Amino acid sequence: MTLSAPRRFRVPGQGPRGTLTRMQSIEHFIAGRFVPPAGGAYLDNVEPATGRVYSRVADGDARDVEAAVQAATAAFPAWSATPAEARCRVMLRIADLIESRLDEFARAESVDTGKPLSAARGVDIPRAVKNLRFFATAILHEKSELHVTDREAINYTLRRPRGVAGLISPWNLPLYLLTWKVAPAIATGNTAVAKPSEVTPMTAHLLAKVCVEAGLPPGVLNVVHGSGAGAGQALVEHPRVATISFTGGTKTGRGIAATAAPMFKKLSLELGGKNPNVVFADADLDEAVAVSVRAAFSNQGQICLCGSRILVERPAYAPFLERFVAATKALKVGDPLEAGCDLGALVSRSHFDKVRSCIRLAVEEGGRIECGGDVPSGVNDRCAGGFFLPPTVITGLPAGCRTDREEIFGPVVTVRPFDDEAEAVAAANDTDYGLSATLWTRDLDRAHRVADALVAGTVWVNCWLVRDLRVPFGGMRHSGVGREGGEESLRFFTEPKNVCVRLRGDRRQGPG
Ligand code: NAD
Repeated sequence: MTLSAPRRFRVPGQGPRGTLTRMQSIEHFIAGRFVPPAGGAYLDNVEPATGRVYSRVADGDARDVEAAVQAATAAFPAWSATPAEARCRVMLRIADLIESRLDEFARAESVDTGKPLSAARGVDIPRAVKNLRFFATAILHEKSELHVTDREAINYTLRRPRGVAGLISPWNLPLYLLTWKVAPAIATGNTAVAKPSEVTPMTAHLLAKVCVEAGLPPGVLNVVHGSGAGAGQALVEHPRVATISFTGGTKTGRGIAATAAPMFKKLSLELGGKNPNVVFADADLDEAVAVSVRAAFSNQGQICLCGSRILVERPAYAPFLERFVAATKALKVGDPLEAGCDLGALVSRSHFDKVRSCIRLAVEEGGRIECGGDVPSGVNDRCAGGFFLPPTVITGLPAGCRTDREEIFGPVVTVRPFDDEAEAVAAANDTDYGLSATLWTRDLDRAHRVADALVAGTVWVNCWLVRDLRVPFGGMRHSGVGREGGEESLRFFTEPKNVCVRLRGDRRQGPG
């Protein structure tokens, strides 16, 4: 880490408010060392809650990616030959170190993203620790398949690491989603070059520091910072990076697929969503309202799994809406570093502007604002320049409108009534996405029937965001290709090889 010329600014968590301090530079992490970008360029890193630049981040290019891929390539033979138990031990040390610095990591995540400190402390950082422990220990229980071909042969499957993996992650859950890729990649013996979002690079930087302290061999994990078009694209294009795991927007995923497919790269794409939340009239309305509010507005609505389209069976529509709007109005938009706030700031000025334009579009499309709207929320003096919007509920939109089809990724939810199950399923599936869906009913048969009919990688019944790291996670249609989690991740980062051994004493050869 280097320090640039002193200037007046505030680093929340690193000094008393308003004191004179120096701008932190976030450098690449290559071959176990922190190095400046080859081209000398940096991007401003803004604190969303204040709108002010509080650090700067290396803006990498193809030269930095080349150095990182070289480091990862050099580290691969030894790391992939390291016994699983030893790989597990070092990864558990990384997890322990993050856990022991929960406050530091949580504060850094909150400042970098604008999310409430309580969310970073209670969700993001603990989940990052869990990701590391989950995959570190999963490799200790590895099993393989064995197929006996009559009495002629036995086949067994070897799964070996694929080499250097490129891991590209977004800004909404920075460390949570980065470790969701890093952990299975390195646990299975690959080495990695990670490209975190340039909008939220801080906890990736802290992770790199912890990796040094934990004794992860140099080059096993490298972090190249910078823009998607620069560092990200260079990573996807690099001929020695045969595996790309990407989480981010659908448009970006389409471009990455276009680059990677002709190079025959193995690709995992976790993309956007426009998730329906279907409430039948027999549901427990208290619970449905409480959880639907969380599903709509957690992380300022910036979770790919947020339930942003609520469909309510007509007899329950009025009572649901009344309670839902009342509960939404009770949410507190506040300084993310202060206790008691439910929503913090949106991640950036450009995203804030985009969400505001989506609210305006909804109104143009005939939507009625039940609460919230395109009115920036005032919070406190410290946050006067921050990117705050109130949680917004919109009704009265016509079926098939853009507001109900396109991802907004902000604190905006639409609510509409439906008359029967078939209409609910058709409306829920009326989007290009297929990431997740939630349904609320006490009718068990209907729960199974509707879950089966919904086009979504995950269907939650009478709950939302209950996560088991073993289950397949991912989306259908424009929400992605492939699955992460448990066995799916372990398989993605390894290459299966069938070994067929003829059984002694039987020389018959079967046709192919
Ligand atoms: P984004 O697509 O703009 O960026 C994601 C990452 O890709 C960043 O690191 C970015 O620098 C990089 N990138 C951008 N252009 C690139 C290129 N040409 N080549 C290589 N890398 C490139 O997404 P975002 O705005 O950071 O994140 C929000 C999106 O992510 C939303 O659409 C959300 O639904 C989606 N998301 C999906 C999941 C999931 O699991 N399905 C989880 C979280 C977020």
